[in-house]
This record gives sequence, C-alpha cells and structure tokens, in this order.
Amino acid sequence: MTTVAAYAAPAAKAPLERTEIERRAVGEFDVLIDIKFAGICHSDIHQVREGWGKASFPMVPGHEIAGVVTEVGSGVTKYAVGDRVGVGCIVDSCRECDNCKAGLQQYCDRGPTWTYNDTDRDGTPTYGGYSKNVVVDENYVVRIPEGLSLDVAAPLLCAGITTYSPLKHWNAGPGKKVAVVGLGGLGHMGVKIAHALGAEVTVLSQSLRKKDDGLKLGADHYYATSDPKTFEDLKGTFDLILNTVSAPLDFSAFLSLLRTDGAMVNVGLPEEPVQILLHSLFGNRRSLSSSGIGGIPETQEMLDFCAEHGLGAEIELITASEINEAYERVLASDVRYRFVIDTATI
Ligand SMILES: [Zn+2]
Ligand SMILES: [Zn+2]
Repeated sequence: MTTVAAYAAPAAKAPLERTEIERRAVGEFDVLIDIKFAGICHSDIHQVREGWGKASFPMVPGHEIAGVVTEVGSGVTKYAVGDRVGVGCIVDSCRECDNCKAGLQQYCDRGPTWTYNDTDRDGTPTYGGYSKNVVVDENYVVRIPEGLSLDVAAPLLCAGITTYSPLKHWNAGPGKKVAVVGLGGLGHMGVKIAHALGAEVTVLSQSLRKKDDGLKLGADHYYATSDPKTFEDLKGTFDLILNTVSAPLDFSAFLSLLRTDGAMVNVGLPEEPVQILLHSLFGNRRSLSSSGIGGIPETQEMLDFCAEHGLGAEIELITASEINEAYERVLASDVRYRFVIDTATI
C-alpha cells in the first residue's frame, strides 16, 4: 500500500478537503497512473450529497481521469511506463457474464466496480480521481490518443462516452435529426459528437443565453424551451432526443417532439421518480429510454473518434482548493462547460 494526497468529502454534504488515502500496491495486472487532470461531473455532486442514496465516506470523487502510466505489474501487456491513459466510471467487473463478454462492462450482471463510492474486489473502498495517483487493472484503462491534450480529454471519460454511446446506439448520423436537451457538461459533448457523426443537431435549452456557444460547438438550430412556441414549431421533428438534464422535465411535452419511431434517451438522472402519460408514446410508437456510460471497448472507440475529429471538452481549469466553489457553480449551471482539476495542485 502507498499513501497519496487526495481531496475527499469526510461526510455527506460536507465540503471537500485535502486528505491522504491508501492505494493498493501495484498487482500483476495493474498499472499505476500519475493523475494529471480530473473532471468534475454532476454525478460527483449527487453522490457527495447522497442525492442518489446512501454513500460511503470519506469519498474521493472523480471518474474523469487522465494521466500517465508510471509503473506496470509483471503481467501487464497493454501499457508501458510513459503511456497517456484514462480511467472512467468503472475500474472492474465480473468479466464472466454475457454483458462483460460483450464489452458492456457497465451493465455487468453482478454490477461493475465503480471508480469511487464503491467497494473494490479486494474489499477495500474505491477512491476516485481527485487524487495524485490511482492503481487500476489494465483491462479497465483506456489509451488517450496523441492528438488529444490530457486536460480536454479527461471529461471525455464520462461526459464523452455517456453521450457517444447512445448517439451511436440510436444511429445518429447523416439524414437524422437529433435534439440535445441541455447545454452543460454532457450536452456540449453531445452536440460536438452528434455533429461530427453527421446528424442535423438542435439544442433545446431553457433560454437562448448560450445560443452563440451552441452554434459554435456544432448545432444547426437552437431553441428555448421556456418559449411554448418551441413545442408547437418542433412537434414531430426528431429521430432522437438526447436528454442530458438531471432535473425533472415535462416528459410528455418533449416526447411530442419525436417523429414516428423516434426515441428519447435520458442520460441525466433526476433524484426523484418521473411521471409521464403513456399516450405520448402510444401515438407514434415512440420510445423512452436511458443509457449508462459505455463499455471499455466503446470508450476507446470514442476517444479515437474524438481525436480523429479534434473533439476535446470545453473546460475551465481549476486548482484543487477551488473544488467546493466549482460544485456551487455546477449546481447554478455556471460553467462553460466542464471544470477540470489540475491535480498538481492537490
Ligand atoms: Zn460522470
Ligand atoms: Zn459481468
């Protein structure tokens, strides 16, 4: 075991503070990653504040990790010292179930091991990326291509894959009309990726405040959902609506914007149950669905795609001492578009 500096919440809803945690010794198939940057995801805040249920403390959040390999175990074949790598939301899974065998480790029948706020296979707590280093099995590590800077690559490990996976699964591409609801950390990557896939992209945001940004990021159209006319004008328009907002919405109103056989896919998770009237699905054989991050092979595919198309996240780089203030700004939707912690400041 080694001791390493980290930022942790000592208890639910408590501010994060500098502390020290233990990392396991590098095992046969492990890599030790010197973390350079860690993104702040809205789900870090949900979990620190127990918005999704009981959590374990102290909690070191962070599942958007970018860094450099500094040590490898004797059995490691995929990575070498000096490689630029990333770690996302999961650090292990059973490796035996149908989902794991299919590369869908995030849907592991026995549950994946989450990067933080979880118990590792050896019984120790998992601690995330707000830290100087992390030890991860090589099979749950991905390579960050040379074309991507580590700071703008970090948010791709959650925000990138969370939007890429459903866009691919529901066939966003040429000839398809895709709406992205919310232009935040997830939404801005959804717009970039859907545009790069060749779809016609519309942003549906509460106001027109970020319209110029949205169009620059690759949107073809931008509408305010606070204007009731938007729902009249766009009725029956979209093949796919990617909802990145974690606050509850009027689902029936958004579903009415889908054309026949269209799907609304939710990647933002509200803390409360939602209500919809099934009539809004019945009318045009519409689907309401959700999608969770992506498996390890698809996460690598996403990073390669983003490098090829020059797609990094839009970030605000912060020091570790600014984490608590950044949380408040995320909750106020006051970030363009992802906070990334320079972990050298921990
Ligand atoms: Zn996340
Ligand atoms: Zn499994």
